[in-house]
Amino acid sequence: LLLAYDPARRLARLNVNLSKAIVGVRLMYELIDEEPDIVKIADAPDLKAGNGQVSLEDVHFSYGEGAALNGLSLTAEGGKTTALVGASGAGKSTVFALIERFYDPLSGKIVIDGQPINEVSMASLRRNIAYVGQESYLFNISLRDNIAVGKPDASQAEIEAAARAANAHDFILELPEGYETLPGEGGGRLSGGQRQRIAIARAMLRDAPILLLDEATSALDAESEAKIQSALETLMAGRTTLVIAHRLSTVRHAHQIHVLDRGRVIESGSHDVLFEHDGIYRRLCELQFQNRNEAAE
Ligand code: ADP
Ligand code: MG
Repeated sequence: LLLAYDPARRLARLNVNLSKAIVGVRLMYELIDEEPDIVKIADAPDLKAGNGQVSLEDVHFSYGEGAALNGLSLTAEGGKTTALVGASGAGKSTVFALIERFYDPLSGKIVIDGQPINEVSMASLRRNIAYVGQESYLFNISLRDNIAVGKPDASQAEIEAAARAANAHDFILELPEGYETLPGEGGGRLSGGQRQRIAIARAMLRDAPILLLDEATSALDAESEAKIQSALETLMAGRTTLVIAHRLSTVRHAHQIHVLDRGRVIESGSHDVLFEHDGIYRRLCELQFQNRNEAAE
């Protein structure tokens, strides 16, 4: 009976539903370290993450027709926040997919702390990276198990600490069944903001040094937004964060901003420097960020 509480076993039983949910599938791949298209080196050594510096060097990639990344180079410094901005289709999400090794580049290199990611074990790569997306997928298992999917042996104290840091503990306790609540397949019984905070707690518990964050484009209610924002700030502290930024407040606080256009980086720098430069970034700011709620600033 005890085995029934093992989230990994529960996950295995959810296979069929998972195939329908892209977000769930991504999470599943992260958890089981699998990706059918990738050529793995047998007995590859584990990634030895230091401060988590991530570099892409002249990366080319295509999903089939046309270039998705076209000689893209960028570095995200260890422990700092690096923002990716650019129009839809510029290649931001593809950068994330390649760092997580859902695909391999056609040419070029992706290196973490000096180690090309195709030369380390997939399990160790995925262990060192946490992804938080715009939509968070919850399995229809208890909220406790949902938080612990990436660390099935976590203690209740660790799970609660992660939930507190993610501003999720209080709303969980207000639910009639608390941490035992079943959120429904996909998490439909919770609000979008609550799902997001469970996903942040999950990432907090995994404690990976590298965080890939795809910021939400659509504003939630102000209270949810503020809670998520402060939870994300806690999560980002001390980690290498690459954030696909849709908020002016995020890019303003980023150590470095890379502006992507048609699969390459066309401008890099801090907000102040780029804004002063009066180039693409400034125009993006005026177009993309102007209408957003910037209450969190
Ligand atoms: P962004 O995140 O900046 O909006 P993407 O990385 O999603 O950009 O997309 C880069 C390019 O790759 C676009 O031309 C997009 O249409 C294409 N693309 C993205 N994902 C896929 C996919 N799964 N299959 C085929 N083409 C894709
Ligand atoms: Mg995208």
